[in-house]
Amino acid sequence: MTHGAENGGGFDGERKMQFLFQLRQKGVTDSRVLTAMEKIDRGDFVRGHFASRAYEDMPLPINSGQTISQPSVVGLMTQALGVQPRDTVLEIGTGSGYQAAILSQLARRVYTIDRHRNLTRDAEVVFTKLGLVNITVLTRDGSHGLPDQGPFDRILVTAAAEDPPGPLLQQLKTGGTMVVPVGQSDAVQTLIKVSRTETGFEYDEIMPVRFVPLVEGTARD
Ligand code: SAH
Repeated sequence: MTHGAENGGGFDGERKMQFLFQLRQKGVTDSRVLTAMEKIDRGDFVRGHFASRAYEDMPLPINSGQTISQPSVVGLMTQALGVQPRDTVLEIGTGSGYQAAILSQLARRVYTIDRHRNLTRDAEVVFTKLGLVNITVLTRDGSHGLPDQGPFDRILVTAAAEDPPGPLLQQLKTGGTMVVPVGQSDAVQTLIKVSRTETGFEYDEIMPVRFVPLVEGTARD
């Protein structure tokens, strides 16, 4: 794999060590998650101006006014999701594609949806370049989920909703897990883990987070 000059030297030994150290320090301890985050180079998902900051633990701007999440938040969300090797995972909010790429290392198949065609197009190019053949990218309003492909073992929402969207709850398998940030768009939100049991849904609070809002409808770009 060639690493772009854009991120100034790529994901090499020292930088990688530092990146993984930061993740562990923030509580990402699951070895499968750490291995996935070691394999996937965040520098492949950040372009232009901000590429030199790809390995810092901070969110960064991407196209269409959206953001690639902070690596430690990606790690903690992925850890909370508890993905198993045979799982089919649905992600709402492709953004840069970084989170989907990490999920692709842990699951059998990943469906990822964004409302911006601009973003899904770019993400697809990176997935192809990296040979991540178990990811399907779709442009649509993800709040309706993907009824034709469901139900899913795991659902990860990477944009904040006021409540977990009903269609997504319906598309979660019994025994399945959904992780979703809930709260008002401009206030502090809470990352919630929803577990579907035989009798209903259980909700656990994980941590305070801040995500861009889940917006209805498909975007013009
Ligand atoms: N997971 C991404 C970051 C997501 S940012 C990454 O790894 O880079 C949140 C994304 O959610 C944005 O790209 C935004 O366009 C998308 N989004 C917001 N509302 C949506 C909706 N209703 N359906 C699909 N995507 C949505």
